[in-house]
Amino acid sequence: MDDLRQDDPHQAAQTHPAAQDHPAAPAHEATRAHEADRADHASQADQADHTDQAHAPDVVARLHTMLRAGLPADAVLTDPDVTASYSRDMASFCAAGTPAAVVLPRTVEQVRHVMRTATELRVPVVPQGARTGLSGAANASDGCIVLSLVKMDRILEISPVDRIAVVEPGVVNAVLSRAVAEHGLYYPPDPSSWETCTIGGNIGTASGGLCCVKYGVTAEYVLGLDVVLADGRLLRTGRRTAKGVAGYDLTRLFVGSEGSLGIVVGAVLALKPQPPAQLVLAAEFPSAEAACEAVCAIMERGHTPSLLELMDGTTVRAVNRLAHMGLPNTTEALLLCAFDTPDPAADLAAVGELCRAAGATEVVPADDAAESELLLQARRLSLTALETLKTATMIDDVCVPRTKLAAMLAGTAEIAEKYGLTIGVCAHAGDGNTHPVVCFDHADEDESRRARESFDEIMALGLALGGTITGEHGVGVLKKEWLARELGPVGVELQRGIKKTFDPLGLLNPGKLF
Ligand SMILES: Cc1cc2nc3c(=O)[nH]c(=O)nc-3n(C[C@H](O)[C@H](O)[C@H](O)COP(=O)(O)OP(=O)(O)OC[C@H]3O[C@@H](n4cnc5c(N)ncnc54)[C@H](O)[C@@H]3O)c2cc1C
Repeated sequence: MDDLRQDDPHQAAQTHPAAQDHPAAPAHEATRAHEADRADHASQADQADHTDQAHAPDVVARLHTMLRAGLPADAVLTDPDVTASYSRDMASFCAAGTPAAVVLPRTVEQVRHVMRTATELRVPVVPQGARTGLSGAANASDGCIVLSLVKMDRILEISPVDRIAVVEPGVVNAVLSRAVAEHGLYYPPDPSSWETCTIGGNIGTASGGLCCVKYGVTAEYVLGLDVVLADGRLLRTGRRTAKGVAGYDLTRLFVGSEGSLGIVVGAVLALKPQPPAQLVLAAEFPSAEAACEAVCAIMERGHTPSLLELMDGTTVRAVNRLAHMGLPNTTEALLLCAFDTPDPAADLAAVGELCRAAGATEVVPADDAAESELLLQARRLSLTALETLKTATMIDDVCVPRTKLAAMLAGTAEIAEKYGLTIGVCAHAGDGNTHPVVCFDHADEDESRRARESFDEIMALGLALGGTITGEHGVGVLKKEWLARELGPVGVELQRGIKKTFDPLGLLNPGKLF
């Protein structure tokens, strides 16, 4: 991430994780045409006017001139080879266009200049953080301005009394977490991508993470926002106080809005006191069903683990193969449970008993923080490890009520069998949030088709079980057809109305969500 913070934007582009270590990256190219076929034509038509206009050579030239009038020279990138490297996030199967320019502002005033310019020329704008997103929500559209916020990366204030941090959007999650820890404070939302992803991106997607089962998701920690609106006006929402109920909760509305309502240029984040170091337990199960039974028992008995994660057998073996971590290769499900309570060993002992009662064949509490961290490393490596099984992956993100978790995993296994595919599952089990990872060879047309169909069927299963199509990764391009199914016509109509109020010209992140 240090590299992303360097001044040289070319360097930043080269060190994007998708270019560095994302094995699915080639699939992006292979599947672009396929996805284009699937694109939502109605929504594209909505944006067509702006896109056509933005493409006209005279508009592009004027755009570059006007952007440069309000931004430092090195903050406006126009070399097509460079701008192309900002065209997509880390999702497969998502269309991405060619930006007309990439801008990397450092100040709120510069962001306002970009938005005023975009409005004047009717050019679409796609906000970006670190582009670790998994739904294509940060993908460029043709002729757009990519507005990368990674250079606005200052932590402006940490207040132990008010228990808040005030940050710019490009601050990396792990950088903030370490900074507040020095004050004895804790910023809980911890997506597995935390070493790279930004607070702006976390707000854009309402990110979750490993500790959500106890501490909740990003939405619970965003108290107030500074937002540059589509026309360049600056909006301040929310508060920096412990309480506050003045007017509609616009702050919450922006969280998870995927850059479609405004550009987040500042955030007031709630902090908690640093909890004691957590201790982790690993339990091996002969089936995913037995592991899910243990999850339900743990929650039913009123325990509050700080982490309750599941890796199925495929995932465990993939992590072993990648990192030689000595995890149990024959297990069908590994449950990781942690407590950061005053007596974590006692809590883990109680949970260990519940795991054994549910059929665990082995229950191994970590001896200390170092061993605990090693187990968490294994869980954090899950997606990366599954990506090494084939040339491409599609990562699903279906969240179901905990009581339906076993049915979700059983149904996913049936879908894998039906389509003849490897689908590894890791899950924030305590939240009922599963990540089925469909592994396939992108050069094999038939396998790619089956992958997409199985991906869709997993979402249908989630909805049928009373769940949601996305627990934390967002809708983006990948799931926009499915959002309409989940919201229903009235929900879609109202949400489109909200979008229109904030962005009447439809310039902000077009083609996403709807
Ligand atoms: C290995 C790996 C593990 C992951 N694990 C998790 C996980 O555990 N939990 C989880 O929730 N996600 C996870 N993700 C997904 C991803 O990291 C998150 O969605 C993250 O929040 C994206 O942050 P980003 O900075 O990369 O944002 P981007 O991907 O660049 O953008 C995400 C969205 O936010 C919008 N956006 C970005 N900045 C702004 C801004 N300043 N103003 C307005 N809109 C903005 C973009 O337009 C886009 O819609 C993982 C991804 C990877 C690759």
